[in-house]
Amino acid sequence: MCVDGEELKRIRVIGGGLAGPEAALAAASLGCEVELFEMRREGKDGVPILTPAHQTTEFGELVCSNSLKSESPNTAPWLLKQEMRRAGSKLLALADACAVPAGHALAVDRVEFSRRIAEAITAEPRITVRREEVTSLEPEDGLLTIVASGPLTSDVLSREIAKLTGAEHLAFYDSISPIVDAETIDMERVYFAARWDKGTADYINCPMTKEEYEVFLHALTTAEEAESKEWEKAEYFEGCLPIEILARRGPDTLRFGPMKPVGLRDPRTGKTPWAVVQLRKENLRADSYNLVGFQNHLKYGEQAKVLRLIPGLENAKFLRYGQIHRNTYLCSPQVLDGHLRMKSRPDLFFAGQISGVEGYTESIASGLLAGLYAAAIAHGEEPEAAPRQTALGSLVHYITNADTKHFQPANITFDLLVPLEEAMRKKVRDKKERHRIVCERALEAFDAWWARFGIQERISAVSGV
Ligand SMILES: Cc1cc2nc3c(=O)[nH]c(=O)nc-3n(C[C@H](O)[C@H](O)[C@H](O)COP(=O)(O)OP(=O)(O)OC[C@H]3O[C@@H](n4cnc5c(N)ncnc54)[C@H](O)[C@@H]3O)c2cc1C
Repeated sequence: MCVDGEELKRIRVIGGGLAGPEAALAAASLGCEVELFEMRREGKDGVPILTPAHQTTEFGELVCSNSLKSESPNTAPWLLKQEMRRAGSKLLALADACAVPAGHALAVDRVEFSRRIAEAITAEPRITVRREEVTSLEPEDGLLTIVASGPLTSDVLSREIAKLTGAEHLAFYDSISPIVDAETIDMERVYFAARWDKGTADYINCPMTKEEYEVFLHALTTAEEAESKEWEKAEYFEGCLPIEILARRGPDTLRFGPMKPVGLRDPRTGKTPWAVVQLRKENLRADSYNLVGFQNHLKYGEQAKVLRLIPGLENAKFLRYGQIHRNTYLCSPQVLDGHLRMKSRPDLFFAGQISGVEGYTESIASGLLAGLYAAAIAHGEEPEAAPRQTALGSLVHYITNADTKHFQPANITFDLLVPLEEAMRKKVRDKKERHRIVCERALEAFDAWWARFGIQERISAVSGV
């Protein structure tokens, strides 16, 4: 296929969820010939072939809530969406066009959203849709591939990816510990220490008396669990059991496990507490700590109640609650480069949930970047990646630079963005004002990068206008 005698660059996109259609539309707008593969389809016997979470064969199906999060100015989800709008995100424009009233959030009519995505794809002559499962990632001359097959990537493709990355770099379950906003920890009640004083005292320790431990244990073992779909019932690994399951094994199991106090003497009393909850600083999430070994499968409201019984966390704000659910994702910091390309196979890009981002909007955002980068690379360029100061750049920075040992997918939050310098933080006490400054800085950095990226010139070159 040719444009003005020049051969179109070929891109294969795997996945017709959120990241895939966005990537396909972005790459096609930059003159690439795109094949978009989606395995969900009408079966021969009239029974649709679906994934365990999808209920339709439509593009862009929102598998659960219909919210693309906050539209309140100067929040992190708002910032991400503003940058995506400026970068011409097709799916976000369609979401805006079929928004339904939802207070400060962008929520969409999910049927209309899918319909409009299908319409946009059909209207793009450079995209060919293939309703089939991709089972091989063998390289092909002149072909770039964007893998956007989502948290429920088919088994055969998962095995193919694991062959390339090494099985240890592809996860099938999220086992997430809660994350707490550092500013909301009561520092009077906790202390810094490393076990047996080995290494630097980086951990925050929340000490418990026997009585506090017993109250906590009772609340933990009687709290209500989140519901699991049949296919989500994980065979938990012994090494990452939900804390409530460990707690039910016996009254002292936690004191000999994740709440072990030995070697953690409280410097203020000189005594070893009955039990200790350790908080570890999140790498690259400057202002937050995770509760070590506290992955759990409790309802969010229950978690808030139980975790606030921990001394020091009485008024804690949780940036993320614990979760354990089915999720196929790469250990991206090990596997991907700053253009969302596999380091060992530069013809393969990853986008969406499988690339280590979490959430609808984040999945679309990474699809947008993968589509733009792949198209530019197909044309022989090495595009400049979105700058670190932007929300788009921060998201990619996180998934490609986080600590590989504890890597967990992330939503966009302020703690992924570059914090204000110390002097500025001291000067600006009000958190909202700080967030406003971070957003302003991000949008300026975005605009400068976007001008350098030269999207209009690129589109004009393709369309000849
Ligand atoms: C049950 C569940 C509920 C969720 N709820 C929310 C929520 O409420 N809010 C939120 O922000 N996020 C939620 N998420 C997380 C995430 O944002 C969504 O999963 C989102 O759809 C991810 O977008 P994606 O494009 O990466 O994957 P998907 O939207 O899942 O798209 C991937 C597509 O690839 C296809 N595919 C897979 N393997 C192959 C193959 N071999 N060949 C061809 N096609 C293939 C699949 O059929 C699918 O259509 C949820 C996730 C799950 C699993």
